[in-house]
Amino acid sequence: AGTVLSVKDLKLYFKTRKGTVKAVDGVGFELRKGETLAIVGESGCGKTSLARAIIRLLPRNVEKFEGTVMLNGTDVMRLSEEEFRKRVRWQKISYVFQGSQNALNPVLKVGFQIAEPLIVHKGLSREEALAEAKKYLRLVGIHESFLDRYPFELSGGMRQRAVIAMALITHPDVVILDEPTSALDVITQANIMNLLKRIKQEMNISYIFITHDVPLTSELADRVAVMYAGQIVELADADDFYTSPKHPYSEKLMASVPTLRTDKKLEFIPGAPPSLINPPPGCRFHPRCPFAYERCLREEPPQYNIKGASFVKCWLYVEGKR
Ligand code: SF4
Repeated sequence: AGTVLSVKDLKLYFKTRKGTVKAVDGVGFELRKGETLAIVGESGCGKTSLARAIIRLLPRNVEKFEGTVMLNGTDVMRLSEEEFRKRVRWQKISYVFQGSQNALNPVLKVGFQIAEPLIVHKGLSREEALAEAKKYLRLVGIHESFLDRYPFELSGGMRQRAVIAMALITHPDVVILDEPTSALDVITQANIMNLLKRIKQEMNISYIFITHDVPLTSELADRVAVMYAGQIVELADADDFYTSPKHPYSEKLMASVPTLRTDKKLEFIPGAPPSLINPPPGCRFHPRCPFAYERCLREEPPQYNIKGASFVKCWLYVEGKR
């Protein structure tokens, strides 16, 4: 399958009173047609900033925003804000942001809100757009009679389905899902995951699925990227990742996940996620890493290629200690 999105050396820094926050600090990956890339990491690792950098919804206090974001061969970083808004955001790349099920406009009917991107971005008439909205409501498993309801008349799960319909209605190449099931109960969460899986197969859509919940990703992910302190420290095929994570931080993440059939003791990752203002020198994970040695404290490890597009950012591999 071809590459839909190719991100290279993406940086997003912003200024705060305490100093410069390096929220995204040299991130790169490729997203193939029809695949799901899960981006996992603890809160504060820069996952959401990465999403916002890709779709260019930036905070006002940006200090640095640079790198390459190729969408189907076009570097969209070179587009002006105006062009980006007209041609890319919501049309080619859409975004289901965290808590979006609670961000629907309370005074507008659900059907109109789903249809709106087509009116605004594709110039469809209200009738045409509403007819499409009806189709997409059905696609996400909501009866078309809900077209004329207001958000408060829908359950949390249904509102989330409506938001997903809204993200899909323009046939985007990439849908970014940022914690799409947070704040929903476990059953509703499972239903939404099944829905996303079905849509992925039916529409051959590419997802970037952002979450702190590693087990949740196993439903959907083809590949997994682990983010730590603004950087990707491991990128792997999902099957390889779940069975044998490579980076010491990934190992800790997986060891902190409860499983059904084994009675292993759960590990907790000691220490706190690092500050994005003054990340530790050398390997950013070194203060929490049980394997850290001299070199880790001084020098930042490069990406070490494992196979295909998979890599790990750790000296142990570069130096053949693993
Ligand atoms: Fe641990 Fe060193 Fe590898 Fe960083 S580079 S993860 S500190 S062993």
